[in-house]
Amino acid sequence: MYSPKVGDRLSSLDTPSMIADLDLVQANIQKLMSKLLPTGLNIRPHLKTTKSAILANRLVAAGAKGGCVAKVSEAEAIAATGFDDLLITCEIIGAPKVQRLVELFRSHRQIRIVVDSNVGASAINDALASSGIDEPISVLIDLDVGLHRTGVKPGEPALALARHIAKQPHLNLIGVQGYEGHLQHLHDREDRKAQCLHSMSILTGTADALRSAGYNIDVVTTGGTGTAEFCATVPGVTELQPGSFIFMDTDYRNAVGTFYSSSLTILSTVVSKQGPRAVTIDSGLKSLTTDSGLAECKDSRYTYGVLGDEQGSLTWEEGTPDLAVGDRVEMIPSHIDPTVNLHDFYFAYRNGVIEEIWPVDSRGKVQ
Ligand code: PLP
Ligand code: MN
Repeated sequence: MYSPKVGDRLSSLDTPSMIADLDLVQANIQKLMSKLLPTGLNIRPHLKTTKSAILANRLVAAGAKGGCVAKVSEAEAIAATGFDDLLITCEIIGAPKVQRLVELFRSHRQIRIVVDSNVGASAINDALASSGIDEPISVLIDLDVGLHRTGVKPGEPALALARHIAKQPHLNLIGVQGYEGHLQHLHDREDRKAQCLHSMSILTGTADALRSAGYNIDVVTTGGTGTAEFCATVPGVTELQPGSFIFMDTDYRNAVGTFYSSSLTILSTVVSKQGPRAVTIDSGLKSLTTDSGLAECKDSRYTYGVLGDEQGSLTWEEGTPDLAVGDRVEMIPSHIDPTVNLHDFYFAYRNGVIEEIWPVDSRGKVQ
């Protein structure tokens, strides 16, 4: 049976396979930590990127405290490995999901959640009330700082939500989350910084208003790979949530530069020759997502195109060495998070040899 092992050479892997350059992963972690740890802020990396408990623990070993996950089912998968200092950054709405949260919280009391509506807050409070769990769950108000995706509006709506949460005995308000996702990929660094500082003023201003109204706001959490360094300069921000920095993708690299390296590729095989300067590889839509543009071949002389679910094309200019059937190429994803979600394992290598195999623990956990 096919079962790749630590110590095998990359050449023995079947394709498509998701492979990670261990030295580059480690370097990306070190770069982030050396930039952000000296700020004294808490670093709570977003695990929606890696979906891996092994990498969550590695980030903690490097200085992070806890992690973020997007969904309750991701929290279930990561917490099941014993890593349960988790903030769930999406709203938890609907009885089935609320019930799953309550059961998760029963055995994992460090789980934190966000809310942006009275109805959402009440449903969680009421489910906890009937669960027999005495301890309240830690809650952050999710604030819209300009992304217009989730989050209560700043000012009176945020204060009104705080008043509502304060009346819920099973909810313990500890802070505010404001994620400026609309700014992460702005190409112009100065523009990104200026708009980020504006979003941060909304976030910290709201935190101050809540404190003035008598609420305990210990946690002010925000930031992604493209903005964390700016968020970290703002007094009042306490926690940063970058995720993509660990692998980077072409979309991020094209926007924010090459401070972090692309450390993750999809190893693919040339399966057919389709012209003098055109081949087909075995990576299509099921291996590489296209929502943020097309993946790039690590050898930039070859250009990728989608040929459907299972295949893609590589074409090249005259004068570039030909690719032949059986050759292997590495493809850099255009958007890391949904690409990782297409694969079961990472094969982490050094010098062409697999040194570690990391399961994608929360693969497919979209609920
Ligand atoms: N925080 C939240 C709430 C997010 O949704 C995301 C990513 O979408 C992040 C943090 C991490 O951002 P990035 O992957 O840009 O580093
Ligand atoms: Mn993403």
